[in-house]
Amino acid sequence: MATITGPSLLPEVERFLGTSPLTSVVGGKDVAGSTGETMRTLDPGTGEPLAEFHVLNAADVDRAVQAATHAFKTSGWATMPPNERGVHLQRLADAIEKHKPIIAQIEALDAGKLLAHAAGDVQNCVDTLRYFADMALHVQRRNALAVAGHEAWTVRHPWGACGFIFPWNFPFLLIGWGISPALAAGNTVVIKPAEDTPLSALYLARLARETGIPDGVINVIAGTGAGAGAALSGHPGIRRMSFTGSPEVGRLVGEACGRNLVPVKLELGGKGAAVVFDDVDVLQTAQKLVNAITFHSGQVCCDATRWLVHRSIAKQFTDECVKQMQGVKVGYQLGNGTQMGPVVNAKQRARVLSYLEKGQAQGAEAVLPGGPAEVPGQGGFYVKPALLAGKLDNVAAREEIFGPVAYIATFSNEDEAVAMANDTDYGLANSVWTSDLGRAARVAESMVAGNSWINAHNLFPRGVPYGGVHKSGVGGGVNSIETLFDYWRSQSVVRPL
Ligand code: NAD
Repeated sequence: MATITGPSLLPEVERFLGTSPLTSVVGGKDVAGSTGETMRTLDPGTGEPLAEFHVLNAADVDRAVQAATHAFKTSGWATMPPNERGVHLQRLADAIEKHKPIIAQIEALDAGKLLAHAAGDVQNCVDTLRYFADMALHVQRRNALAVAGHEAWTVRHPWGACGFIFPWNFPFLLIGWGISPALAAGNTVVIKPAEDTPLSALYLARLARETGIPDGVINVIAGTGAGAGAALSGHPGIRRMSFTGSPEVGRLVGEACGRNLVPVKLELGGKGAAVVFDDVDVLQTAQKLVNAITFHSGQVCCDATRWLVHRSIAKQFTDECVKQMQGVKVGYQLGNGTQMGPVVNAKQRARVLSYLEKGQAQGAEAVLPGGPAEVPGQGGFYVKPALLAGKLDNVAAREEIFGPVAYIATFSNEDEAVAMANDTDYGLANSVWTSDLGRAARVAESMVAGNSWINAHNLFPRGVPYGGVHKSGVGGGVNSIETLFDYWRSQSVVRPL
């Protein structure tokens, strides 16, 4: 079904896409879903169908949760020593690494990512798996408590079947961030990828089966949000839930989990600020922020979308950003020299364009107007980078656009800058840019969000907890030891002496 206009498909990618409609994998078996319904996923760069997949409904999701629960109880996964589980996870990491060019091509085609970025995401998943497999070997799961008159300790157990719902912007990387700690802790997982980008998850399920991970430990169910997604988040058999996506759907998932008293981690959207002081290297800072807002066409939850710039350098900074944004080559994601690919679908393109209109209607200045981009020979979903400027009460400065659109506002002093950065309902990630490291630390700690970066944006070294507060999420800690502990329930044991 694939109609590729860039470099030719790898034979294995061709074979995989050629097996459309693709089945989900539940309990180690290919599952077509009980209704016979199928959906198509598009190549965002061409707008043409890429593959077809079976759509699972609530009854199928129930079977997947049962399979994960059964594997948790009977496969030995939950009870095997961490070093044995670690061997399985390292083998899976090896297999993913070996298939990196294949998975990267699948991901690039399905999500509209540049091939190098998709390969980076695959490697990130590999590294995350290895990180948590290693960590689980060394973390104390049993801790003695010093209590008068008693022998007492706490012990940590895996929860059981854990549910995961993922968005379309980083399909494979986020699977790594999500399931690696859960699996390393001894849980089993049911993964619901986004309906726009299910392919890399379906490929992963097949690889996991080949590497000998027990059947039912990793289940992947493809389907719609309202169907499979709602069924998974509302399933009483799920012991722990993780959702990554929009705040709107996050609320629904949180409500569903609340009804079942299932603990849930919500990783949601953002409207991050970059606070740029007047002592920066303007050219370099502009370059880094332009790189960030055009990376994956701005479809990055933690992006800096509000650029708060000291009044005295605002003109110079804005001019430099415009120059650099104008130079970004928009093109097919597998094309030579492309620096920014398409957005994921027609709906997302319409969303980006509508914010440009609404923002200007509310008085924002279109410093660089952006708009639809034409890529010769391609019918995909392309937009140009855009830069708006004005007051922060503008809709384009308040709501998450999820496209290559930045909004500039100016400040006069540090207090004003912090107040402006914090004037948002979101709280995911901000950055501060200055050569005064004292000020950098002060501002970084004053910005209300899960993450603050200094003289950089989008930093994810493993070991640093990542997550959002307020409208950006509940229960972060991703990518660090905190998440591993999330995937163990704690139990106390006491005996009178
Ligand atoms: P989305 O919320 O529309 O969809 C996310 C997932 O939820 C998809 O798999 C979808 O099928 C599913 N879903 C939809 N309706 C559902 C329902 N009623 N019940 C259960 N599941 C349902 O988000 P999106 O458009 O795919 O992704 C973009 C959003 O994700 C942005 O807001 C972005 O900021 C956010 N995001 C956050 C992080 C983070 O780490 N904080 C990372 C990536 C993306």
